[in-house]
Amino acid sequence: ENKYLNLKANHECELNHRGSSGSMEVEGIYDLFSRSQTKYNVKYTSYRYIGAGDAKVMHKLLHNPPYDDVSIIKIEDINHFSKKMLHRLEKITKDLKTTRIGGKLGIGGHGRLTKEMTIRFKQYYRQAISKNKTDLDEMIRAVWSIWKHKASSNLEPHHEWCSLSFCGYLKSLETGNKTNIYFDFVLYVTRIGDEYDHDGHKLPLAVMKAIRPVFDELAHPDTLRKVINGSSQNANESFHSVLWKFAPKNRYSSGAVIDLCAALAVLSYNDGNQSIVPVIAEMTGGDGGFYTHIGMKRFDEKRIYREHNQKRGKVNKSITTTVTSTLQLENLMIVDNNNQEQFDDSYMPGAY
Ligand SMILES: [Zn+2]
Ligand SMILES: [Zn+2]
Repeated sequence: ENKYLNLKANHECELNHRGSSGSMEVEGIYDLFSRSQTKYNVKYTSYRYIGAGDAKVMHKLLHNPPYDDVSIIKIEDINHFSKKMLHRLEKITKDLKTTRIGGKLGIGGHGRLTKEMTIRFKQYYRQAISKNKTDLDEMIRAVWSIWKHKASSNLEPHHEWCSLSFCGYLKSLETGNKTNIYFDFVLYVTRIGDEYDHDGHKLPLAVMKAIRPVFDELAHPDTLRKVINGSSQNANESFHSVLWKFAPKNRYSSGAVIDLCAALAVLSYNDGNQSIVPVIAEMTGGDGGFYTHIGMKRFDEKRIYREHNQKRGKVNKSITTTVTSTLQLENLMIVDNNNQEQFDDSYMPGAY
């Protein structure tokens, strides 16, 4: 009894939210906006919109504007947005299950719209958006090029809107003769284009026609306009993973610990682990210790080495991991192995 009263009297309360847990994020983010001016003399102009929870945040920001003269705009998250492709294709696959298409029931199955292919479509869609972030017309064309490319056949190739970065057909032209490609294009296509065999890459036209409504919707200017200047939250999530390594989410940490870990994570994330040494030195006295110096230096070297290796092995590795072992799938669409961005969503932080 006495002990409790004692504890209570000496308790430094860290309570910073009253209300439902659902409103915690909204209130927290709203606080960040509200105090930005007094604390840092800046105004945040945008909010990145990721999921259903953000609708509440956006609503609050719009209806109780934290600044008099700056209205906050919504930024769509490209990773999240491109999942529309996945969801629409999944839905249409389900809806057409009992409909006869191209001689078979539904649009799924081997050589047709497999689950893997659906995921790839989502990735292509994301790429089309992220590579043409600032140009709506280009974005629309890039999305349609996905459809046209996959619907192309040896007799009817439609690669006008394709990009050399992913289109095996254009590439086969390119390797055939680099200087002549724009010169007498039609003649050239008939001569060299033959080398690219569509049969391994195309999807049946009946299937492509069946999923065309998805493209009608997702390549529509009204849809894509929302995602102009969109961005991803990768950098944000990547910082989070550093923070939660310091303070694991599955364990309770007090506010003081979280503050400390957040500070350490910022140091480590921005300037490397060696930047933590002066902090330790100040807390413990002395100069931080011989082995601490060496340890932190090693962590940093490892990080650089890993990054270097990842950049080199990224494309090869992600082809084997995301495309799995299905050779047939690999052949469905030739990708440019030299392109860093091509497969950079084999891991998409926060996207799932
Ligand atoms: Zn308390
Ligand atoms: Zn193409």
